[in-house]
Amino acid sequence: MNKKWSLCDAGFDYNVVAVFGSQSTGKSTLLNRLFGTKFDVMDEHQRQQTTRGIWADRGVDMNVLILDVEGTDGRERGENQDFERKSALFSLAVSEVLIVNMWENMVGLYNGANMGLLKTVLEVNLQLFGGNRENKTLLYFVIRDHVSPTPLENLAGTLHSDLERIWASVNKPSELQNARLTDYFDLKFTSLPHKLLQPENFEREALELRSQFTDRRSKEYVFKPSYKRRVPADGFPHYAEAVWDKVVSNKDLDLPTQQELLAQYRCDEIAQAALVPFRKAIDEMRPLVQEGDIVPDLGQVSQQARDTAIEMFDSQAARYHKEVYRKKREAFVQLLDGELHAVFVNQVKNALALATEKFANESHKRLEEAAAAETEYSFGEVVGKVRRHVTESFRMIVNELVIPGGSWTFGSELKQLETTLDATTAKLRLAEMDRALAKLRRTAKDTLGELIEDVLNNPDAQMWSKIIEGFETTNRDAEDALQVRITNAEITSEEAQVGFLRKLHTGLWEDLVDVLKEEVADQMVLLKLRNALEDKFRYDEAGLPRVWKPSDDIDSQFAVARESAQSLLPMFSKIVVSNDCVVRRPGYFAPNFELDRSLVLISGARLRELGKRFGREADALYLEAKRAMVSTQNH
Ligand code: GDP
Ligand code: MG
Repeated sequence: MNKKWSLCDAGFDYNVVAVFGSQSTGKSTLLNRLFGTKFDVMDEHQRQQTTRGIWADRGVDMNVLILDVEGTDGRERGENQDFERKSALFSLAVSEVLIVNMWENMVGLYNGANMGLLKTVLEVNLQLFGGNRENKTLLYFVIRDHVSPTPLENLAGTLHSDLERIWASVNKPSELQNARLTDYFDLKFTSLPHKLLQPENFEREALELRSQFTDRRSKEYVFKPSYKRRVPADGFPHYAEAVWDKVVSNKDLDLPTQQELLAQYRCDEIAQAALVPFRKAIDEMRPLVQEGDIVPDLGQVSQQARDTAIEMFDSQAARYHKEVYRKKREAFVQLLDGELHAVFVNQVKNALALATEKFANESHKRLEEAAAAETEYSFGEVVGKVRRHVTESFRMIVNELVIPGGSWTFGSELKQLETTLDATTAKLRLAEMDRALAKLRRTAKDTLGELIEDVLNNPDAQMWSKIIEGFETTNRDAEDALQVRITNAEITSEEAQVGFLRKLHTGLWEDLVDVLKEEVADQMVLLKLRNALEDKFRYDEAGLPRVWKPSDDIDSQFAVARESAQSLLPMFSKIVVSNDCVVRRPGYFAPNFELDRSLVLISGARLRELGKRFGREADALYLEAKRAMVSTQNH
């Protein structure tokens, strides 16, 4: 507080008043009338601009500090607006009474009456000083050049509802959502006659108005105790400085300048327009891609649409505020790329699916062909060739989508393809091995089938060792062939190799058992027994048919033959495997395979039933032989 104002000793006995309003609306003139001050007034003839700043003075013969805000003419915008906002906020924050000065013809005009500025000021005031409801501020609207017949009450009503509307639209901190305008402000309205048209009335009413600021006994006295900031006069300079610092450092007041606002608005408009042809181009391709197609020129067409859109934007937007343009362009390109990327990702996904499918199908086909050709082939070579081919096609599709300026690569998708192809290769390898196993088993089964038929048709005590020997040989051959397959299919894991060997062993053994079971099916086994019986009974040791003479002991001969045939039945019922046989080796079969169970070919009950049936057949044979002999005798 300046010494010359000699207010330092006033303690709390002083008031602060400030003025708010557009330039050249007679603010300084009014203050000088009300407080006897000598603030600069714009020269009526030269219309010279007064110096910018917040001017302070003491009212003549009164303990009132008056702040006159001198901005620039409303025609000049930009950084001056910044000063207007800051100075207005400062005035509002420190003064008990804020005179809001405006022409009558500005009432109801949002821009003309500086209502926009008022909104910002109220908003930031609430943010910065909103917690403090202890001292209200009086907003004293002084309507200048009141020449129309509209009564003051009507003008006041308009202003009042404008203010409420502004207040409702003010962004309030969450804890102050329900704060009302009247929690912070009292409102008062007055008007003055036209200074030039009615100079006497003007002076008279200005004088009356003055008394409201000077006459403590007046009913209209404006400085109510409730407006008072709890700052003693000698602390006021420090207080004002602190408020000013806070106001200046507040970012919310750094609102965009008019130029920036215009640039934002126009850039948005231009971007919207440029988006239209861009989207049209992309929308033609998007549904195809979404259906799983691969659109051949997607990248190229997109790039063209993107370039055109950016060119369109640049050609019009570049003339606006540089920084705004730069940011808007960045956002615009990001928007374009976001839309493109979504479509591209879809296309890459389709390409990935296509490559995987093609790889699986084509490899499968070629492996089958190679296997069918019965010539040597390498699994790795066959599959590798297909893999190179599909990978190349995938890369071409993906590379087409990498467009200059675009911020994406498809590295992870390429990796994903590799992973998928690896998995498919593993599956193909298994299928390949299964195919090889099946083929080996077929060959082995044929060999074993012939051997078994031969042996079982001429059964003797060595029959099982002959069969098992044959099995071991076949098994060895199949193992050798499988080793070749394993190497060929590049199965390097020992565990996997052992797995395939066990699978082969188990399969071969199961095939053996199958063939044997077929050979000992009811009719087959009965046939074998009957053949054995007839061989023994009807033919002699030299293999010649017997001709029975009456002296022959047909009964005992028959009994011997029957006995010998019957003894084969238990031999057929179970496979006999010696202890040193390869199938007894631990880990020979796949886990869970039970060798002993597989050895039984004919169960006990079936064995007894077959024994009975054979007995009956033998009886019939015997009777037939007898009858034949009797008839021979009769001739
Ligand atoms: P400020 O920029 O708001 O402080 O305005 P000034 O007080 O400097 O006045 C600007 C111009 O308006 C000067 O030429 C004044 O003579 C003139 N003026 C002041 N008061 C009034 C008024 O009530 N009515 C009219 N029509 N002109 C005024
Ligand atoms: Mg002025």
